[in-house]
Amino acid sequence: MRILVTGGAGFLGSHLIDRLMEADHEVICLDNFFTGRKNNIQHWMGHPKFELIRHDITEPIRLEVDQIYHLACPASPIHYQYNPVKTIKTNVLGTMHMLGLAKRVKARFFLASTSEVYGDPDVHPQPEEYRGNVNPIGIRSCYDEGKRVAETLAFDYYRQNGVDIRVVRIFNTYGPRMLENDGRVVSNFIAQALRGKPLTVYGDGSQTRSFCYVSDLIEGFIRLMNSDQTGPINIGNPGEYTILELAQKIQHEINPDVDIVFKPLPQDDPKQRQPDITKAKTYLGWEPTVPLQDGLKHTIDYFREYLNISP
Ligand code: NAD
Ligand code: UDP
Repeated sequence: MRILVTGGAGFLGSHLIDRLMEADHEVICLDNFFTGRKNNIQHWMGHPKFELIRHDITEPIRLEVDQIYHLACPASPIHYQYNPVKTIKTNVLGTMHMLGLAKRVKARFFLASTSEVYGDPDVHPQPEEYRGNVNPIGIRSCYDEGKRVAETLAFDYYRQNGVDIRVVRIFNTYGPRMLENDGRVVSNFIAQALRGKPLTVYGDGSQTRSFCYVSDLIEGFIRLMNSDQTGPINIGNPGEYTILELAQKIQHEINPDVDIVFKPLPQDDPKQRQPDITKAKTYLGWEPTVPLQDGLKHTIDYFREYLNISP
């Protein structure tokens, strides 16, 4: 198949491209390189079945493809809050352009949505039926509400135009190729510990997250895309940890001598988050296989090499 991956030079997109190329598909990677890097896809450059297009999805584009994995959107709070109006445009205009493309060429369309559509959840763990607790005017809204509109658009194109959609709600994912400076918690703590700097826990560290290793997530993507389910389906690892526990694990793994310091909690920071993955198990036969301990080891090895820090 010929498959378009928007945001293909980013963290998740580049891992997805690896899987699709290994399965012998033709892959078009489309990216504006806001948070993506050529390095992430360098190893496919020059391959006859790989094509890279520098393009911003807030502008329309015409291509002939069979499937579209739509991932383009900055994912970390630092980056999506850098230009919030652009983030909304990417989620709304960008998703509309990609759905329009899917409609025109009758491609199957996969939307990378997020657990952030549940906001600061008061139902725990979060099943897909939960409608969320999102602040529409807060500093995270450009992303949370943007993704909620993106989901609405996907379902309206499905109902009105018969576009064949798949919607995944991704929970916090980590692994090699995360950006060192994007402020997400796993990459922050690992880079800090490797450099011998204090680990910055926001608030008292009692807020929780559930961390999925990237290879598990991508397996879930491919299963959903090739299933008969529209979703939305949660993909994430139900293993839930407080942020302080995560800091202690990384401190223990890298350097027990680094300090843990406490910083103010950002506005609207969700207090808890854990996926209910009953649907993924039932309909896709999917569940995560990589324990946090192992995934952290792979990620630490990557950052050690990337930052050129010897063990
Ligand atoms: P990322 O920032 O590494 O990748 C996003 C990619 O999209 C980058 O390559 C960036 O350059 C590109 N991009 C951004 N705006 C664009 C635009 N207007 N036009 C073209 N390209 C653009 O983030 P990621 O972690 O790989 O996330 C990928 C997708 O998964 C995003 O849609 C994100 O919302 C979603 N997601 C990720 C997580 C996670 O834990 N990583 C969790 C929930 C949802
Ligand atoms: N966090 C932290 N220290 C950091 C970076 C993040 O304590 O250096 C916290 C953050 O406040 C949040 C959690 O870790 O409670 C996860 O943050 P991230 O930005 O990775 O993901 P999200 O909040 O979008 O789930």
